[in-house]
Order: sequence, then structure tokens, then C-alpha cells
Amino acid sequence: MPDVLVLVDHDGERVSTSTYELLAAARRLGDPAAVVPGTPGTAARLRESLARHGATSVHAAESAEAAEYLVTPAVDALELLARETAPAAVLVSAVTDGREVAARLAARLDAGLLIDAVDLDSSGVVTQIVFGGSYTVRSRVTRGIPVITVRPGAFEPDEHPGEAALRTLTLPPVDPAASARVTARRAAPAGDRPALTEAPVVVSGGRGVAGADGFEVVEELADALGGAVGASRAAVDAGYYPHQFQVGQTGQTVSPQLYIALGISGAIQHLAGMQTSRTIVAVNTDPEAPILDLADFGVVGDLFAVAPQLTREVAARRIAG
Ligand code: FAD
Repeated sequence: MPDVLVLVDHDGERVSTSTYELLAAARRLGDPAAVVPGTPGTAARLRESLARHGATSVHAAESAEAAEYLVTPAVDALELLARETAPAAVLVSAVTDGREVAARLAARLDAGLLIDAVDLDSSGVVTQIVFGGSYTVRSRVTRGIPVITVRPGAFEPDEHPGEAALRTLTLPPVDPAASARVTARRAAPAGDRPALTEAPVVVSGGRGVAGADGFEVVEELADALGGAVGASRAAVDAGYYPHQFQVGQTGQTVSPQLYIALGISGAIQHLAGMQTSRTIVAVNTDPEAPILDLADFGVVGDLFAVAPQLTREVAARRIAG
């Protein structure tokens, strides 16, 4: 079986769920080879959990300066390995950094790039949902090594225990003239909630929430369900909620088990970021709101009446359970 390179997303100690999803996707094409950019010792720490999720090899793409530069060390490592091993494909998560890594890599390799895959078959045919969900497209790269970004949540991570050999790459020094250097880091105020792109439940608020204070209702429901909070662009632009939580075409793409839209009309640009969610629930006062056409369960009503009832009911069942 050919190797399939998988770029590992991690925080130094823990592999992200979206990487386990990539490993599951990679197994359809060949042997998943995990590529771990980081500072020395990172790959050894992550090796066991990567092997447990199906990686057959782990490549340590490590250097003391790796954390100082944005994306370039990962692109360098993937390019080196792609040229050496001619893999069946390179898979990267369709998150902000991953998109940039994939685009730079495809340009360097002069290879075809397919973005935002929601499915992938053993012959390398990728399914994408495009134009805000109006079309489902199946495509295959016909030039060079396919570089594919995979939408978080599109694949189920699964355990596939085995051994993964650890290999160390010798990376070229980062070219500072072609790289962005990190001069300071400040943690985003994330609180206790799960990351938006990885949460199994996302509760989002829109312009209907009518103010920053109104988001308390959204947060309470998210917390009762152990989920993340999202927002429409209208809510973000109006200053109701911070930009990093925007869902949609120009925000984050999410694909949770459950997406609850409170006071969101369902503009095509919003749907582009959440329509592959497994179950969609919408609460809207307008029975004609387009989101109700997409929703599996729609409630025509005032979110300030409906959401608190839902929060109380979920909390009561949790206690009873
Ligand atoms: P509105 O469309 O104003 O809808 C508010 C809804 O709340 C209405 O349906 C109303 O009936 C309902 N409502 C009001 N009060 C209540 C209440 N008390 N209870 C229940 N329901 C109530 N948008 C995104 O979200 N994400 C993006 O990434 C994005 N990218 C864009 C990119 C481009 C290039 C462009 C042009 C637009 C983009 N937009 C994006 C904006 C998008 O077109 C819409 O303007 C936006 O999604 C609307 O947000 P909304 O549904 O919260 O607001």
C-alpha cells in the first residue's frame, strides 16, 4: 500500500480530533504516515496515540525554531516527504493553518489541490459541497500528488491499533525571507467550552439575539449540552460576539452532531459553514426563514422563550440521568 501523508495538528501534548479524522480518511487510500511538525520530542510524545488511530509511521519534523514560524516548517516537511516517498495523497485539515499549508504545498509541488472534502473514496475521488451547498461535486486530482484538505467532522475518528515506526526528518533551515515569524503569543479567551470546529454540539446565535447580553441565552444552552458557541456574521459585525466564533463562508466551518441556530435567517453564506452538521435545529420567529427549510427540527417562536426552556429540560434530564 502506498503511504498517505497526514499533517498532524497538535498542541504539543495532545493530537486534535480532526487529525484522527484525517487518519481514518487516509486509510481509504493507503498507509497513513503522520507528519508531526514541532519542537524536539513532540513526535515521540504523540506517537502512541497516533498509532492507536491508525498511523503506520510517524515522521518527526522537528526543529528548535519550528514554533517560531507560521506554517512554513510544516510545508517544508510535507514537501520533503512528498518528493521522497511519492505518497498516494497528502491530507490536511481544512482549518485556517491547514488551508494555507495545503495551498503552499500544492504550489511548490505543482500538484492539484482539492479543498474542503467531505468524503473520499479508495480511488481518490473527493466529494465537495460547493456554492453554499447548492451543488455536490466529485473530483479527482489529475496532476501530481493530490493535496486534499478535509473538512473537520466529515469523517468518524476510529481506533485502529498498531505499531508506528518513528522516523526523524532532516529539515532545511527555515528561510526567514519567505516566512512569517511569530513574535508573541497570547492565548485566545476560550474558557471551558470545546473548540468550535471540534465540538460535537454547536449552538449559534444570530442577529435575532439582538445584543451582546442576549448571547447569555445561547451560552447557557451550549453549556447545558456541553457544546461550543457560534455566531452569524451579522451578530459578529454588530459586536454581539467575537469574530473567532463566526460560522460560515468567511468564518469557521463546522460539522457537529448537533447544530442549533437561534435567531439566524439561514443566508447561503451561513449555511456554507454548517450545512453538513448531522442534525440541525432552528428557532426563528419567521416561518419563512430559509434556515427552516434546511433544519431537521424547526421551531417557529421567540428564541428567548424557547432556548431557556430547552436549557432547563436538558439540565433536568442530565440530573435525572
Ligand atoms: P438576519 O438575516 O438578519 O436574520 C436574523 C433572523 O433572526 C431572522 O430570520 C429573524 O426572523 C430572526 N429573529 C429575530 N428575532 C428573533 C427572536 N427573538 N427569536 C427567534 N428568531 C428571531 N454570514 C454568516 O453567518 N457567516 C459568514 O461567514 C458570512 N460570510 C459572508 C460573506 C460574504 C461575501 C457576504 C456577502 C455575506 C456573508 N455573510 C455571512 C452574511 C450573510 O449574507 C447574512 O447577512 C448573515 O448570515 C445574516 O445573519 P443572521 O441570520 O444572524 O441575520
